[in-house]
Amino acid sequence: MRILLTNDDGINAPGLEVLEEIARELSDDIWVCAPSEEQSGAGHSLTLNEPVRLRQHGERRFSVSGTPTDSVMMALRKVMPDAPDLILSGVNRGANLGDDITYSGTVSAAIEGALAGIRSIALSQVYSREGMADAVPFDAAREWGTRVITPLLDIPLAERTLINVNFPPIPANAVKGIRPVRQGFHDYSRGSLVEGKDPRGYDYFWFGLHAIEHTLDHGTDLEAIAEGYVAVTPLQLDLTHHQSLGTLADRFAG
Ligand code: MN
Repeated sequence: MRILLTNDDGINAPGLEVLEEIARELSDDIWVCAPSEEQSGAGHSLTLNEPVRLRQHGERRFSVSGTPTDSVMMALRKVMPDAPDLILSGVNRGANLGDDITYSGTVSAAIEGALAGIRSIALSQVYSREGMADAVPFDAAREWGTRVITPLLDIPLAERTLINVNFPPIPANAVKGIRPVRQGFHDYSRGSLVEGKDPRGYDYFWFGLHAIEHTLDHGTDLEAIAEGYVAVTPLQLDLTHHQSLGTLADRFAG
């Protein structure tokens, strides 16, 4: 089994090392093609207005001066002689739950894989506090990685679907199990805005993240994580709200 690893935290991220450990339990044919710098929040963006550089770091290890989507595209079109059987993206430093998904470079790399018809799984390690960027406990991801990925290797997946996995921010031996759940929703628009003046006296603004309030709807990824489970959510690329089609058809009729 040929596996492509990527992420949005950059090729030197600790979570990518964790993902490599997980992947090597599954196969020896591991390829890495990841952004050269952190791309968290890049979503599914594709670099079109500037060139993208490709650097080789090892026989099967490459970085791309672009986004997670650029990295997957580069891997499939240039780096890999044959298409991978599986794409793993992560392990992200932080949650990709509920409404996080469309901002997520981690999930978007898996979306790019799904678009190419390749089985793709995004993996994220939830952690509870900001400001401890390099001290995220990847325990749960490391211990539960293959336990969640292995059963996903041969289940039938519809076209244009992918799997989003989040590991809870607790020690591996405290994790209660794996729970398939739907995507939840945050109650409030996310994030904070920090304002300041730069050294030259100009205003700057900086988007940040802070604790998000949410009610834990039953059966959601948010609830599963809060209750100490690994959350596994199937996602689809069809964003159509099918129930609204009839309403729109009525409005535009005649
Ligand atoms: Mn990230």
